[in-house]
This record gives sequence, structure tokens and C-alpha cells, in this order.
Amino acid sequence: MTEPTRYQTDPLELPLPASTEPDPAPVEGCPGCVELAKVRDRARGVGDMTTVTDCNVHMRRHPEGHR
Ligand SMILES: [Zn+2]
Repeated sequence: MTEPTRYQTDPLELPLPASTEPDPAPVEGCPGCVELAKVRDRARGVGDMTTVTDCNVHMRRHPEGHR
């Protein structure tokens, strides 16, 4: 006799998609952040959300440095 496998039915808390997260603000005095903010603005202007997300990712990584 085998026990039926039990699955957790609790809804998993999924992280929100990146597009709904608020944009990180550029860190003052950091040329890398300023540049990313500029690129992000331009990308948003043309609807290039891939680049916008990319810039946000890099901006969030500010403490680790921009590459
Ligand atoms: Zn920065």
C-alpha cells in the first residue's frame, strides 16, 4: 500500500516581474549611474523595455560596481 503523495497547496509567493518594480534611482555622484539613467530614459522613449530593464539591473548593482 502506498501513501498518496501530498503536495503543499499553499500559494507560493512569486517575485514580481521586473517590469512592475519601481525604477532604482541613480546614486548621486556616480558617473555609472548617471550614464545608466540617461540610457534608460532614451530606451523608454523608444519603448525598448529590454534595455530599460537592463539599466535597472545594472543600477541595482551599484554597490558591487558597474561593468
Ligand atoms: Zn552607480
